[in-house]
Amino acid sequence: MNRPVRRAALASVAVALLLGALKAWAALKTGSVAVLASLADSLLDLVASLVTLGGVRWAMQPADAEHRFGHGKAEALAALFQVGVIAVSAFAILLRAIERLSTDQTSTDPEYGIGVSIVAFVLTLALTSYQRSVIRRTRSVAIGADHVHYQSDLLLNGAVIVALVLEGYLGLAGADPLFGIAIAFWLMFGAWRASVEAINQLMDREWPEEKRRRLVEVACGLSGFERLHDLRTRTSGNRDFVQFHIWVDPDMSVAAAHDVVEALERALADEFPGIEVLIHLDPAGQVDDPHNPLVEADESAFLKETKR
Ligand SMILES: [Zn+2]
Ligand SMILES: [Zn+2]
Repeated sequence: MNRPVRRAALASVAVALLLGALKAWAALKTGSVAVLASLADSLLDLVASLVTLGGVRWAMQPADAEHRFGHGKAEALAALFQVGVIAVSAFAILLRAIERLSTDQTSTDPEYGIGVSIVAFVLTLALTSYQRSVIRRTRSVAIGADHVHYQSDLLLNGAVIVALVLEGYLGLAGADPLFGIAIAFWLMFGAWRASVEAINQLMDREWPEEKRRRLVEVACGLSGFERLHDLRTRTSGNRDFVQFHIWVDPDMSVAAAHDVVEALERALADEFPGIEVLIHLDPAGQVDDPHNPLVEADESAFLKETKR
């Protein structure tokens, strides 16, 4: 990680730490569910930043004797861990809100909650503009994701202020727990979105159709084989893995067939940097699994269709 990226990561950890302490104090002072939910968010931000840093670092370790495919899935594991933590805290906030709604007790001393939320708003604003300058210089994906998140936190801190004003000054009892519930659902929505990508990686989901087609297009731009089939693709962290079968002339020499495979590997590596390719040779006409189109269907069929 280069220095501006590390400094930006440290800045967001420091902001989350400071806001966590301030919000814990405000939550105790006011008993507000909205403040409690926003405290949960700051603590989760802290865990998220630390786990993301650790997960990304672990995932970047090169392949070793025990993990010949690399450690890419560590990133997805770290993301799933976060999702679990978020789900549990959102559930705890929901329970607290329901308890508050059913006992008509209200929050007290709203000015503490409002003051802390204003500080949080200003600090978050400063952090996001700093992140923007780092993103412009480094194009870091990790800081980019963090940036999107802190932007949504601006909204969240604003919502806490609105909730406390409504309940504390305008006498709208129940506004606070209802805003708390809304924030809890917002957290769960974010967790769900993060988990989809992680689960896809852990389940070895196929690449999106468009990327798959691009691969077949690049491969079929080369010669010496026909009928590209049994194509399987997956992504693990920042690495792509691909395997497929091709038909070659049964009388071709091993050396010539090897040249065909090498040329394919080079062309694919040019188009998809860091890709790992495994190619199986069939003598033309060979059919292993006649009733399974997933295995035997010619993946390049769509190319011929568009040519016609
Ligand atoms: Zn947050
Ligand atoms: Zn085959």
